[in-house]
Amino acid sequence: MEGAGLVGKHILVTGGTGLVGRAIEKVVADGEGQLDEEWIFMFSRDADMMSTTETKALFEKHKPTHVIHLAATVGGLFRNICYNLDFWKKHTHHTHHMHSAYETGVQKVVSCLSTCIFPDKMMYPVDESMIHNGPPHSSNFGYSYAKRMIDIQNRGYFEQHGCRFTAVIPTNVFGPHDNFNIEDGHVLPGLIHKVCLAKHETGSALTVWGTGKPRRQFIYSLDLARLFLWVLREYDEVEPIILSVGEEDEVSIREAAEAILEAMDFRGELVFDTTKADGQFKTASNAKLRRYLPSFQFTPFRKAVKETCAWFNTNYANARK
Ligand code: GDP
Repeated sequence: MEGAGLVGKHILVTGGTGLVGRAIEKVVADGEGQLDEEWIFMFSRDADMMSTTETKALFEKHKPTHVIHLAATVGGLFRNICYNLDFWKKHTHHTHHMHSAYETGVQKVVSCLSTCIFPDKMMYPVDESMIHNGPPHSSNFGYSYAKRMIDIQNRGYFEQHGCRFTAVIPTNVFGPHDNFNIEDGHVLPGLIHKVCLAKHETGSALTVWGTGKPRRQFIYSLDLARLFLWVLREYDEVEPIILSVGEEDEVSIREAAEAILEAMDFRGELVFDTTKADGQFKTASNAKLRRYLPSFQFTPFRKAVKETCAWFNTNYANARK
């Protein structure tokens, strides 16, 4: 939203075309932007954020006062298992935005982490104080160790230079514009795509990988987008904050698959392929978020799943898959 003469904040969103970037764009367009904010949503083709030179040029061009850093290489459990080294390499080079932000006097940077970076075999629920307390789950050690370094740099830039850089830690995000690729993507978009194929092509059962017993705190991308706006405008800590529904709203993979069957109106049975991995435990506490925002309303899970399935059905031709 641009207000001539009123613009005070130039907000650069890197990774602006991904799941979360699109959601932020939508909530801003739907009226949650403010008159003194100009939003710049960046495409990956605009700059390679793993290059210091290109990142610097991007910051010099747009002169942001605020940055939401979403650009990242992400994948579901099964992609992480295969490419730990690649994830590590890419994400250790994905911190140039912080140095460019420091050099160009950016007032605030919000970077995006994930609850999968928490140590494996912890006391649950995990909270913000535990990020560095032990090795991550073996399935995604590359991504996790690299992403933890963003928190280290936030602390460093604050202590040495007084920068207000922080990070958010969302749980499992899903929604429109997700990556619906079955092999590479996360569980909900993967299962939605599988149901779609089963309905229209194979007519077979829905195969769910693993036992279906692991539990996840799914957060709808549009809810997460609203929380990002709050963090950008009002959250003043350098310490990260977990953005998640409560522990009471955690659902099992089986329950998630059932919600998709209902939303897609598919009567096939569920089959569990227990030769596939279950992944990690990662129940997270949203107590800190609730201390700040006790009455924030999350979209009910089944409603958000219905909206996501409807979006996928409508946008099937152009969806990432
Ligand atoms: P995670 O939450 O970081 O582990 O990543 P995912 O979103 O990939 O979720 C993985 C969990 O969903 C594991 O327990 C998998 O066994 C289970 N799962 C069941 N079916 C699928 C599927 O079709 N795709 C994926 N990615 N995971 C699945």
